[in-house]
Amino acid sequence: MENPRIKYRKLGRERARGLYHEDGLIEIDPRLPAKEHLEVAIHEYLHHEFKHWEESHVEEYGRKISEFLWILGYRRVNLD
Ligand SMILES: [Zn+2]
Repeated sequence: MENPRIKYRKLGRERARGLYHEDGLIEIDPRLPAKEHLEVAIHEYLHHEFKHWEESHVEEYGRKISEFLWILGYRRVNLD
C-alpha cells in the first residue's frame, strides 16, 4: 500500500477532526491538540491501510494505538 498524502485543512464545516478519501488523501484539522492529532492521524491511516475494517474497529484501534504511543512519550515536533 502506497503511503497516504496528508493535507491540513480546517474541517469545522465537515464536522470532522479528520477525513480519509478513497484516493489516498488524509485531511486533518490543523487545530487539534497534540494527542488528538496523533489519534486522528492513526485513525485515518487505519482507514487507508485496512479499507475493509468497520468504523468501530478503526475507532477502537486508533484510540488504543495512540494512547500506547503517547504513554511511550511519542510527540509531534515541528521539523520545518
Ligand atoms: Zn473513521
